[in-house]
Amino acid sequence: MTDASEQPSIDLAAALRDRLEADGLLGVRMLPIHAPERAADAASVQRAPADYRAAPPGGSAPSGGRYGAPPAGGSGGYAPRPSPARVAAGLRGEAALPNAGLGLQKSVADADRDQRAIQLDVLDKNEVKPCTKCGLHETRKRTVFGVGSPIARIMFVGEGPGADEDATGIPFVGRAGELLTKMIENGMGLKRDEVYICNVVKCRPPNNRTPAPDEIAMCKDYLLRQIALIQPEVIIALGAPAAQTLLNTRDGIGRLRGSWHEFHPSGTAMIGGSIPLMPTFHPAYLLRSPGEKPKAWADLKMVMAKLEIPIPGQSG
Ligand code: SF4
Repeated sequence: MTDASEQPSIDLAAALRDRLEADGLLGVRMLPIHAPERAADAASVQRAPADYRAAPPGGSAPSGGRYGAPPAGGSGGYAPRPSPARVAAGLRGEAALPNAGLGLQKSVADADRDQRAIQLDVLDKNEVKPCTKCGLHETRKRTVFGVGSPIARIMFVGEGPGADEDATGIPFVGRAGELLTKMIENGMGLKRDEVYICNVVKCRPPNNRTPAPDEIAMCKDYLLRQIALIQPEVIIALGAPAAQTLLNTRDGIGRLRGSWHEFHPSGTAMIGGSIPLMPTFHPAYLLRSPGEKPKAWADLKMVMAKLEIPIPGQSG
């Protein structure tokens, strides 16, 4: 029989671990490392660099294991986080790329990447910027097309621009954008320009209201063409409007998040392939409800697991 007196401490430990992990989304630089099981492991953790981004100069490869063995003298509690370029190279079975920073992008020819960038630029300049298909063009200052890598493995799709985005023409640059950047960089260990970020509608709805169904219907084609050009391996839908638009459902985000769905570019499961889609909470909601951050972090960890992206600070 379980000793009931032990249960609260176990729950407390689990809650503390979740809380600390979620704090990674807030920009805490020293992310938790899985609890050492032995005293020797604890000692190695204490010797670990305080900053999990402290990659070896030049990205020299740790040896052994999927992403390398613990540092000399360590006993298994910590391994330096490999550079993104090294992770990408490892996933491809290649030697490390000299140009660290381009990691975690698909191995495509430069010409292909440039071609996709050009096509995205043409779509933005020729169609989105002059677009007057829905009433949102009447109150916008700027259209907000999207930013990031044209060969990104991960595509974040939000709802629509806010005031800061409307003023700058760049998605996710306000407070919610700052949190999203922390989720990407501090939480996932990626660079913001390694992923692609955009919204369902490209013009700001007045007073930050939710885009109307007819506005989404008019703008959706631009998003579909962005997805077709970038061909992400995973889409992360931020908030209900993005998830509902891409999944063609009316289910709420609380019901949708936490499990994988399939986005069908053709609009039907009967035709063509699909892209795995993870719905999660919008950063603006997380700012209002910080207690939900552990759930968002859990969603991001599912994405990282699917793409075999190591959690920063944890050995592979
Ligand atoms: S929200 Fe989309 S469809 Fe509406 S005017 Fe802007 S770009 Fe055009």
